[in-house]
Amino acid sequence: MAQKLQSVRGMNDLLPSQIARWHRVEAVLRAVGWAYGYQEIRTPMVEQAELFTQSIGDQTDIVQKEMYIFADRERQQLALRPEATASVVRACNQHGLLHNAQQRLWYLGPMFRRERPQQGRYRQFHQFGVEAFGWAEPDMDAEVLRLSARIWRRLQVRDVHLQINTLGSPQNQQAYRQALQDYFGKHRQQLDADSVRRLDTNPLRILDSKVADTMALVADAPDLRLFLDDEIRRRFERLCELLHQAELPFTVNPRLVRGLDYYTGTVFEWVTEQLGAQNAVCAGGRYDRLVENRGGHVCPAVGFALGLERMVELLRAQEESDDNAANVTNSAPADIYVLSVTENKSVTTEATASVATVSEMLRDADADYKIIAHYGGGKLNKQMKRAAASGARFAVITNADAHAANPVQVKKLHAADAQQPMHTINLNALAAWLKDNFSFSK
Ligand code: ATP
Ligand code: MG
Repeated sequence: MAQKLQSVRGMNDLLPSQIARWHRVEAVLRAVGWAYGYQEIRTPMVEQAELFTQSIGDQTDIVQKEMYIFADRERQQLALRPEATASVVRACNQHGLLHNAQQRLWYLGPMFRRERPQQGRYRQFHQFGVEAFGWAEPDMDAEVLRLSARIWRRLQVRDVHLQINTLGSPQNQQAYRQALQDYFGKHRQQLDADSVRRLDTNPLRILDSKVADTMALVADAPDLRLFLDDEIRRRFERLCELLHQAELPFTVNPRLVRGLDYYTGTVFEWVTEQLGAQNAVCAGGRYDRLVENRGGHVCPAVGFALGLERMVELLRAQEESDDNAANVTNSAPADIYVLSVTENKSVTTEATASVATVSEMLRDADADYKIIAHYGGGKLNKQMKRAAASGARFAVITNADAHAANPVQVKKLHAADAQQPMHTINLNALAAWLKDNFSFSK
């Protein structure tokens, strides 16, 4: 027997039994995006590798360790996108979307990072994100945070908390970076190997080290707030005011930094205690320089990305603990199961052919019906068992002469209707009968 191949490590199948919750989450994400006037944008999954190296930063973990890079047949360096902000900015610049224009955009799709797979951390995962281009003031930071808060409300997610911080202007960051290098430089021997490497390249990242000794050092590290200029301070205070007005609770976490170089000013994360080590569900901030650094005009911007796997897992855990299983069952694949009376298994008879004809007729009658046609014949009671297992409410039993004036049989399948007899209905009255009985039992 041929060897069975497995999916690539960290890249998962989503099976039919898991899809209902994904659809629910995706529907809410889209609806909330639209509710704030954001429009969808779709960019390719493959880009020139340098787009990410230059946007995210060539010393970041994403670029150094996690990005899938490969040479195509013409030896061009390509990458699977590890995130979408860089791509959205490229697309905006390429198509002139920001010429004298502001844009509110959202995206949803798979991202790729070669991380160590574990609960909540995969090599292919999905992000929903929003990006607002052209607004410099904190009203827009507050808008994207309100938008994210509305997502939790609509999904009835509990236990997510907002942390915010500001990273300051590029000049502030420069001065702070120097101060961190001086401070951590003095304690170099206490730092873990990763942090020593970051000391010269990306000292801000030492602040979110998870190594105990390093964390102890971080506790006494210089405070970023001392390095902020007045304008940045004003904006941050204004954002805090706006969040208070919106009654959106938050914590200021001065150690919150992000793993991508393009952030300036406001940064934030929505975190939860329900997901173990992978506690960030949604993260983002301002990236006021990225558009111009990638060849566009000066254009302030703010956005976030939300991890769907973590979101879906959070919902699953919550619904399980609420014992709310009814909420989460997949909707039945069928409303109507069409079969035919025939004992003949191997041949397509007139009766089995009528199954397809009648199914098509019902799909014409109502585009929303989910209809399963039974092929392969078999004993009536076996077919009826299949019909019941499909979750359908009605079984329609056709026969060899499915013509308009000839009758078919209909049986209601749900437990509450079990006592009802088989109905005999002329084919040309079937659609109307189903419509009446659908609305009646809904
Ligand atoms: P983390 O600190 O968990 O590595 P990150 O800072 O790398 O997250 P971002 O690049 O800001 O994450 O991405 C935004 C969101 O996307 C995260 O908050 C998380 O929900 C999700 N995410 C990021 N990486 C992964 C991954 N490898 N698998 C699943 N979800 C992910
Ligand atoms: Mg990461």
